[in-house]
Amino acid sequence: MKIPEIHIPVVEIPLENKVKLFMKREDLVHPQVSGNKYWKLFFNINHYLDKNPEKPYLITFGGAFSNHIAAVSAVGNLAGVATLGIIRGEELRDKWRDNPTLLFARRNGMNLQFVTREEYRHKDKLTGFLQKEFPEALIIPEGGTNEDAVAGVKMMLNDETKDFDYLCTAVGTGGTIAGISKYCEDNQKVIGFKAVDDDSLENKILELTSKKNFSLIDSSFGGYGKIKDDNVRFINDFKEKYNIPLDPIYTGKMMQQIFELIKDGFFPEDSRILCFHTGGLQGIEGANLLLKKQNRTLIV
Ligand SMILES: *Cc1c(COP(=O)(O)O)cnc(C)c1O
Repeated sequence: MKIPEIHIPVVEIPLENKVKLFMKREDLVHPQVSGNKYWKLFFNINHYLDKNPEKPYLITFGGAFSNHIAAVSAVGNLAGVATLGIIRGEELRDKWRDNPTLLFARRNGMNLQFVTREEYRHKDKLTGFLQKEFPEALIIPEGGTNEDAVAGVKMMLNDETKDFDYLCTAVGTGGTIAGISKYCEDNQKVIGFKAVDDDSLENKILELTSKKNFSLIDSSFGGYGKIKDDNVRFINDFKEKYNIPLDPIYTGKMMQQIFELIKDGFFPEDSRILCFHTGGLQGIEGANLLLKKQNRTLIV
């Protein structure tokens, strides 16, 4: 079965401010495949299935809490395609049941193969090896960013999204912002909130979009995947006030940074700002397990 197209609503985040803030709830795209990952996989999988492979097989890479791993496993389950996840960290081989993301992937039927960090770093080598072993398989890179993924992000844009001065998204591997930059209107400014402190991102994104309508703001708050009490507080306050859940790795940090920017007067008066809720909510459970171990406040 192919992946269906779905319409996503834009909602206002009411502020007492001269700027107007809105959110496109891509987190609602599918109960199991949340946010941008759905659209990044959309053409990858549908084009692959169009070729009618005899034994369709999706292979990809990710860390222990990866939204991408969760998404590929769920899409595989949805489309009736077998999946294999190459997971960073040998130590997880006996402990994956304690990890909600990996448990979810396994329940979706994903085969998990654990490799050392060293092996994982040489993913290119692994990819070559896997493609030889499974010539018909579709191998999707870590984070899912490739040309089909960028094309899929176009599905996040429509007539409703044209009406904004700023389009904001969290940035991991850069595929999502590249798609927004490539397919948005000429007068729109795109801002990427980097969840990863990686200086090579700008060039990677430029290669994928070839437009210079975007800027990047560091929003890693101390590093990728690091969660501070202040981040948790923001997420919990945001949920209480607007009834919208945010994830601790991407969307929570982006919204926290956007609120700071609005407070500092970064956006001109009467600006219309649209942020994409790229999902990632599956990561909350894993984050809470770590926070609980450290006796810290949990994400509600
Ligand atoms: C993967 C992910 C991102 C980053 O997307 P890229 O295309 O890798 O930049 C942003 N938000 C969430 C919730 C994600 O899971």
